[in-house]
Amino acid sequence: MSDERDIFCKIIDGEMPSDKVYEDDDVYAFNDINPAAPTHILVIPKEHIASLWEAEENQAELLGKLMLRARDIAKEAGLEEDGFRLVLNTGAGVGQSVFHIHLHVIGGRDLSWPPG
Ligand code: C5P
Repeated sequence: MSDERDIFCKIIDGEMPSDKVYEDDDVYAFNDINPAAPTHILVIPKEHIASLWEAEENQAELLGKLMLRARDIAKEAGLEEDGFRLVLNTGAGVGQSVFHIHLHVIGGRDLSWPPG
């Protein structure tokens, strides 16, 4: 694990507050502090990975688990019927502001396509 400790590492360790919705040995999820939709949950690995650019082949299982937990969290949030969107911003140029990889689970309103 990297020594880098960003704001999400501090949330995982309880040094920063968060509105937790899920936690297991590898994954942590919490409501986004600035929600873009009625449901807006961030799903993050406990292991620090700065972005998808930095992810390694040996983290494939962890990344797959992140996606499956995101699906379960979306279902638990009541989004099964209407669906949801997963967003993985990768790089400051497309809006990544926290460099600890995270899936946005977004739903509960109409979402246009293509995204802005
Ligand atoms: O994809 P991006 O890096 O822009 O997403 C970061 C997200 O983290 C934002 O939606 C922001 O509202 C959220 N955030 C949060 N709690 C913090 C800091 C950021 O929910 N303490």
